[in-house]
Amino acid sequence: MSNVRKHQVLAVVLLFVFAWHSASFAQSAPTTKTQVVMLGTGTPLPDPRRSGPSTAIVVNDMPYIVDAGTGVVRRAAAARDKGMKGLEPTNLRIAFLTHLHADHTLGLPDLILTPWIMGRKEPLELYGPAGTREMVAHILQAYDADIKTRTEGLEHSNRTGYKVNVHEITPGVVYKDASVTVKAFNAYHGSPQNTFGYRFETPGRVIVISGDATPKSDVLQNCNGCDVLIHEVYTQASFDKVSPEWKQYREAFHTSTRQLAEIANKAKPDLLILYHRENPGCDQARTQECREAGGEEQMLKEIRELYKGKVTAGHDLDVY
Ligand SMILES: [Zn+2]
Ligand SMILES: [Zn+2]
Repeated sequence: MSNVRKHQVLAVVLLFVFAWHSASFAQSAPTTKTQVVMLGTGTPLPDPRRSGPSTAIVVNDMPYIVDAGTGVVRRAAAARDKGMKGLEPTNLRIAFLTHLHADHTLGLPDLILTPWIMGRKEPLELYGPAGTREMVAHILQAYDADIKTRTEGLEHSNRTGYKVNVHEITPGVVYKDASVTVKAFNAYHGSPQNTFGYRFETPGRVIVISGDATPKSDVLQNCNGCDVLIHEVYTQASFDKVSPEWKQYREAFHTSTRQLAEIANKAKPDLLILYHRENPGCDQARTQECREAGGEEQMLKEIRELYKGKVTAGHDLDVY
């Protein structure tokens, strides 16, 4: 091949490589990235593999936290260690509470104080039902001596990051920024008041979190073909084993696999994530048989019998 011919071939090859590279670059150009990180998938049960309920919706590395169960900040740090850099604890500054039950708020002092002790300067922006302001005031009062020691003593901690801007909410759009719109909706959990589920709309995805909820909650209309539905559940097999009192409690506060399958068949989420798999009555009975009846395997078996969509059992630190 002549030198001229070689140069021509080389030019064509280079042009092709350049064009291919440009095309692939265009395809992988940065787009909005929304991830669901299960920080805690547990219940009041002190299961060492499951922290208290808490979910992070992370949009372009900005975390929005739903609920503050036990271990929330440590689980965020564990997610950061797995490469989710947005979950650096000092980055935790926007949170939403579904309700004020202990399992969903035992980590609230942690969420208020630990990121601050690590250097967060911004106050926590906290959205929750009526009563949130009072709960936060009591927490801050309980830790008053500690806060004084850290701000006035040798640690020289900043005087802003432990503060909390509480937003007590009612159903509707409760938060909006350039990345997300967050809508609260009524979740019926024991009483028809003061419990919310949340719908997150991000540029790429719609994510709905039930919180603690009976089927009377407004999950269906808020999911309605959503990308991800994260829902609480208990098994029918464990329901059948508990006392009439516990049956009554479950019916008033939570959702069975059978009921959830019915909701999911109508709401048609692209992905159903099961979390907060509660087993009240069996937790207290503490027998192996009762535990297994309420276990994950049983839960998936029951739901799959009645719901043919994509469904998974969430575990702590799962990312979707
Ligand atoms: Zn709960
Ligand atoms: Zn609850």
